[in-house]
Amino acid sequence: MMQAQLNLTTMVNHAEKYFADKTVISRTLGGVQTIPYRKITERIRRLAGVLKDLGVEKGDRVGTIAWNHHRHLEAYFAIPTMGAVLHTINIRVSPDDLAYIINHAEDKILLVDEDLFPLIERVKDQIAGVEKIIVMTDKDELPETTLTNVASYEVLLKDADPGTELCEDINENDMAGLCYTSGTTGRPKGVAYSHRGIYLHSLALGLKDTVGLSEEDIAMPVVPMFHVNAWGMPFAALWFGTTQVLPGPMPTPQILAELMEEHKVTMAAGVPTIWLGFLEALENGNYDTSSLRCILCGGSAAPKGMIRAFESKYKIPFVHAYGMTETSPIVTLARLKSYQQELDEEERLELRSRQGMVVPGIEVKGINENGEIPYDGETIGELLVKGPWIADSYYKNDRSADSFRDGWLHTGDVINIDEEGSVKIVDRTKDMIKSGGEWISSVDIENALMAHDAIYEASVIAVPDPKWQERPVACVVLKEKEALTEEDVKQFLEPQFAKFWIPDRVLFMEEIPKTSVGKFLKRALRDQVKEMLSLSDPS
Ligand code: AMP
Repeated sequence: MMQAQLNLTTMVNHAEKYFADKTVISRTLGGVQTIPYRKITERIRRLAGVLKDLGVEKGDRVGTIAWNHHRHLEAYFAIPTMGAVLHTINIRVSPDDLAYIINHAEDKILLVDEDLFPLIERVKDQIAGVEKIIVMTDKDELPETTLTNVASYEVLLKDADPGTELCEDINENDMAGLCYTSGTTGRPKGVAYSHRGIYLHSLALGLKDTVGLSEEDIAMPVVPMFHVNAWGMPFAALWFGTTQVLPGPMPTPQILAELMEEHKVTMAAGVPTIWLGFLEALENGNYDTSSLRCILCGGSAAPKGMIRAFESKYKIPFVHAYGMTETSPIVTLARLKSYQQELDEEERLELRSRQGMVVPGIEVKGINENGEIPYDGETIGELLVKGPWIADSYYKNDRSADSFRDGWLHTGDVINIDEEGSVKIVDRTKDMIKSGGEWISSVDIENALMAHDAIYEASVIAVPDPKWQERPVACVVLKEKEALTEEDVKQFLEPQFAKFWIPDRVLFMEEIPKTSVGKFLKRALRDQVKEMLSLSDPS
C-alpha cells in the first residue's frame, strides 16, 4: 500500500473541493452569520499566509483564547496546515496558570477573542515570549488596550493571499495540536496531538456505532473548542462536509435551544452540567428540538435520571461517552448491541448509563492488585487505555512516567467491566470512599440523587471518620421552589443502596464548585464541607 501521510492538509483539501457550498453557522458578539466552507477554506489559506508573514515556522506554537466560532475553526486548520501547532488555551484557568501554560508551551503568537482580551492584559508582564497578539473581532478597529503588539484578525486577513499554499508534506507524526489538562491538582499538563492521531480520531467519530458524524448532520459542539478540541468534532465535521453550528461567546441554555430550533441541529455535544441547564430551558420554554438525533454527553458521568428525562419526556436520543484530554478524547461510548435492544426499558437504561463499549482502534483493560480484572461487572480496577489517538507522555514533563507505563495510559479512573465488555466508571481513584474497609462509589450515589425530581445537582465526598475511616457526605442543590429535608433525601436513597452507603449527612447548598470545564471540583467542595461541618458541630 502507499505510504500516504495522515494529515490535516488532506482534510482541508477535501472540504474545499467537495463541500464548498456547505456552511458554518457562527455566533459571535456581532450576531449570527452563515458562512460557506468555500469562504472558510479561503480564509484558512489567508490565515496560514498571515502566520507565515509573521515569521511562524514549522513546529512553533500558536495559542488561541477563544469561544466556539468560525474564526477559531479557521485557526484549527490554518495553524497545523502551515506546519505550526494549534495550542487551544482554556479561558477559565487562573491568571497564574494562564501565564504558566503560555510560557510552558512557548506560544509565539496568540489569537484572542475581543471579549477575552482582559484575560491576557492581566498577565501581559508575565508572557514576554509572545511576539504578537491578534484580536478576533467583528469590528475593524482594535479594542482599547495597554498592549502594544496587537493586530486585527480581519485586517490581517483582508491583506493576505487567498492562494497561500498549505504544507502538503507534513509528516503524520508531527505535532498538530496542544491542550493542557484541567487537572484539579498541580500545574496543568500539556497533551500533544499528532496529525495522525487527529485524522484517525476523526474517522472514528464517523463510525455509525460511535457518533456517526456525517455530511447529513448539522452538528453543534457546545463543548468548548478549548476543551480537548471540542472532542475533535470541528476537525471531523469540516472534513466530512458536516454543517456546523458554533454557539459563540457565553452560550446560555436558551441561546442553545434557539440555535437548535432555528438551524435544525441534528447532534450536539457537551458535558452533563450543560445538559442539566438545557433540560431546565426545555421545561420552561417551548422549543422544537425534533431535529435532534443525538445528544452526546461526556466529561463526567451522565446521571441516569437525565438520560431518562431527555429520552422519555423530550424524545431526544442521548448517548453517553467517556474520554480524557489525553485520549483525544473518544475511548468508550454507550450503545446497545443489537440483541440487547430486547432487554426491558430499565435494563437498557442501566446499560446506556454505563460509559460503554470501547471504540474500534482503542484497547482498554482494568487492573488491580490481582492483575487484570475479569468481565463480571463487579470487580473494580484502574482503567488502562492504549491506541493510536492516545498520548504517550505529557508535553515537556518529566513526571509523565507516573501515568504512561508499559505502553498504557493509566487513567486514574476506577472501573468495572461487564460480561459484554461494557465499561463503567465507578469513580476517580482519588474520590472513592473507603468506609470500614469497603469501597463506596461517590458517582453512584450522585447519580441516584440527581434522579430525584426536586434535586438539580449533587456531589458526594468522603469526610474522615474516627470509626469507619471515611464516611460519605452528600452535597445537594435543590431545583428552584423545591424543598426537601435531610431525612427525605436519606429515605429516598435507602431502598437503592446497602445501608453503609447512605451518606451520614446531607448538606444543602446554593451551588457546587466546578472546574474550568464544568465538572464538580471536589477539592474545593471538601474544604467547603469541612467548614460547614465544623460550624454545625463546634466540638
Ligand atoms: P478531561 O481531561 O478534563 O476531559 O477529564 C477526563 C476525566 O473526566 C476522566 O479521567 C474521567 O475521570 C472523567 N470523565 C470523562 N468522561 C466521563 C464519563 N462519561 N463518566 C464519568 N467520568 C468521566
